[in-house]
Amino acid sequence: MQRLSGIGVSVGVGAGRAVVLIQRAQVLRFSIPASRIDAEIARLGDARARSTGQLDRIQMRLPGRDLGTLFEAQRLMIDDPMLLPRAASIISEQRVNAEWALQQVFDHLGAIFDGVEDPYLRERKGDLADVVGRLRMNLTPGGAGFRDVLGECEAPCVLVADELPPSIAAQLDWNKFQAFVTDAGSRTYHTAILARSLHVPAVVGLHDATARILPGMMILVDGDEGAVSIDPPAEIVRAVTATSARRRSAQAAVPDAAGRGVKTVDGVAIRIEANVDLLGDAAFAMSSGAEGIGLFRSELLLAGRPADELTEDMQYEMYRQLLDDVRPAPVTVRTFDIDEDQLASGEHRRDTLWATGYEVPRSRLGLRSIRLTLKRRELLRAQLRALVRAAAHGDLRVMFPFVSGIEELREARTVLAEARQEIAARGLPSSALPVGVMIEVPSAAFTADLLAAECDFLAIGTNDLIQCCLAVDRTDERVSHLYEPLHPAILRLIRHVRRAAARQKVPLSICGEMASDPVVLALLVGMGLVQFSMTPAAIPIARRMMQEIDTRELRVIAGRALKLETAPEIEQCLADGLMKRRMLERH
Ligand code: PEP
Ligand code: MG
Repeated sequence: MQRLSGIGVSVGVGAGRAVVLIQRAQVLRFSIPASRIDAEIARLGDARARSTGQLDRIQMRLPGRDLGTLFEAQRLMIDDPMLLPRAASIISEQRVNAEWALQQVFDHLGAIFDGVEDPYLRERKGDLADVVGRLRMNLTPGGAGFRDVLGECEAPCVLVADELPPSIAAQLDWNKFQAFVTDAGSRTYHTAILARSLHVPAVVGLHDATARILPGMMILVDGDEGAVSIDPPAEIVRAVTATSARRRSAQAAVPDAAGRGVKTVDGVAIRIEANVDLLGDAAFAMSSGAEGIGLFRSELLLAGRPADELTEDMQYEMYRQLLDDVRPAPVTVRTFDIDEDQLASGEHRRDTLWATGYEVPRSRLGLRSIRLTLKRRELLRAQLRALVRAAAHGDLRVMFPFVSGIEELREARTVLAEARQEIAARGLPSSALPVGVMIEVPSAAFTADLLAAECDFLAIGTNDLIQCCLAVDRTDERVSHLYEPLHPAILRLIRHVRRAAARQKVPLSICGEMASDPVVLALLVGMGLVQFSMTPAAIPIARRMMQEIDTRELRVIAGRALKLETAPEIEQCLADGLMKRRMLERH
């Protein structure tokens, strides 16, 4: 048995056969039963037919002889006996899916090209990559995506991926997949957040799990310990599963007046709401003790479909349902926080991939979120119209993500005003929604006073704020150790925003993952924050902790922590301070 260690981001234990997804290169590998071998080889044949047809058409359209020759060379490669016949043998010998068989042939031939001395011939590897990319695309014609292919895997299984975007995670059948593990990621990785709301055990940040785990291997994922065992003996699977079940039932047994406000020992009211990614999770969030939904990540509604297929009417029904599920509690919907890549339909994205041969770069600092939706105004306006209509049915608020300054807020408010006018022109109630701004960009934090003066509430999104302020990409495992919520710069920024909000008398909450850690939560309360929104699974512990703390003591600890120079010193100061007051050991 081999054991890998990573970061447990979603508790529980899951075991099953590995299904490996190499998302960066879009390669999927899994074992197939003997009865499927012929069908899998037939898929290769169909992909060959489609690819040659496409190459013939491309060749006819091309003007110059040189380019025509290039595609002629690709056409010959497709028929090379080293390529598809070899992939077909791998399918039957190794009983793996066609994509993975093709990838193995590509790796083998690519290594041969790499070893060739002649630079001209060596460069032909690019043509081979292009041909293999085309064949791979044609293995899933008509836009059939990962969901369709993954639907074929035999349950129970465990997904092993280099990275797992939430848009794919949200579409998988988690009754079939018992758990997932990824090479990339950190505690605040979006998919980790989603895993917690889906209650799927998950371990991330494993670096090379996709290289070490082969499809079909038995995998045991222990989300509590952040451990992954490869081919574990049955008694270990039983023991780990039993320990995890005991932990879960001990946690479930804790009594709590769910849904009602909590007060600290010295009588300070603390409000805890939930971050919700999927519509179906609202009820669970409320039963975990949330007093409302502080962040609904609406972009997950777009998962797996082109943005313009999600109509205003569909959204209206969804937001209404959300309000119904939590009534009379409030719901804060954040407008779509997506980038261009996520906005594009799956088909378009694959085309781009094969056309360039490289993955479309996804940058958190690019055209995304409010910047993107202000450019795609019709998308934002339709979402805002749906929200304006839904607001007639409950306590609904709207929040703009990734705002970097006052102009963006003003422009977004203009779109909201237009949306209200359009609804009023239809003779429908056009309620005024409270408008909030997420503070996720350092420029917004520094101008929080200006933003607060023109909105109804602020919410600090620490996940993005930390990565932007510290220049750490939270999905890049090579630098994720630098992602430090307790960095003095982060604490000072939060203090700055809190003071600005207080001066403008505007409510402020924290909705980043930072607040889900009970120790950090205690520090935030000590810094004067009283409103939080967090992943539902973290709420019961947070509520208990809040009822056992004294903010006067926490203020002293926070005051000391904010004078320190490094994150480890701050962490030590918190641990010592909370231990001394016996506030830590219980949690
Ligand atoms: C944040 O950035 O803290 C946040 C809550 O938004 P998300 O994690 O969805 O980017
Ligand atoms: Mg964010």
